[in-house]
Amino acid sequence: MKEHTLIKRWQDTLQELSTAVHKAGRAPGSVSLVAVSKLHPAARVRVLAEAGQLDFGENYVQEAQLKQHDLADFPLRWHFIGRLQTNKARFVAGAYHLVHTVDSLKLARALHKRAQTLGVSQPVLLQVNLAGEKQKGGVPEAELPFLVESVLELSHLELQGLMTMPPYFEDPGLARPLFARLRRIKERLETMLDGELPHLSMGMTQDFAFAVEEGSTLVRIGTRIFGPRPRK
Ligand SMILES: *Cc1c(COP(=O)(O)O)cnc(C)c1O
Repeated sequence: MKEHTLIKRWQDTLQELSTAVHKAGRAPGSVSLVAVSKLHPAARVRVLAEAGQLDFGENYVQEAQLKQHDLADFPLRWHFIGRLQTNKARFVAGAYHLVHTVDSLKLARALHKRAQTLGVSQPVLLQVNLAGEKQKGGVPEAELPFLVESVLELSHLELQGLMTMPPYFEDPGLARPLFARLRRIKERLETMLDGELPHLSMGMTQDFAFAVEEGSTLVRIGTRIFGPRPRK
């Protein structure tokens, strides 16, 4: 894909996002675009960084480290959105603007330990597995309150909200009830905590307009911007 094609696809995506935000009756700028660059080379990220995109999502620790190194001359905000093994948490805490995929106390503790060593606070989201898919990460809804309470006690983690990744549906509208469910779960947590959780990370290439209608604040979009991913 040519450089100008990539930039055009990114601009079109931003336009579609802003249309979706407007149609949902939400404030302009209330939803941020996280450009998911996993498996695409750093040179592609650089093109968009130069064009003004700041938030990028990555899934694989080592690949992301190389890109972060390559692109250190830009003030980018990296989002970790992949499955994270506890033994790799030390490479993630302190290196990301936001970790979207915390789904166990063990992982939370590992991130916390590293953040503490670095003397930083690591913003995190808890990933919720709403459809009970075994192959996917995420805490079951029933276990969420316990994980929330535990994470709140970890002083070097900052809980900022929830993330979900619905099953693949042929008809993307079928994901909408799950997005609505995550929003209600967040609202209940806010009541329980008597405080606000700023973020709902939901919506990808095929379903982001539905996620925006249901209150998403971070959409994670890869294919619509970069085209199909090379195989890992
Ligand atoms: C890869 C990935 C995305 C991007 O998916 P697209 O369909 O390419 O937009 C979003 N979220 C997560 C968690 C991912 O792993």
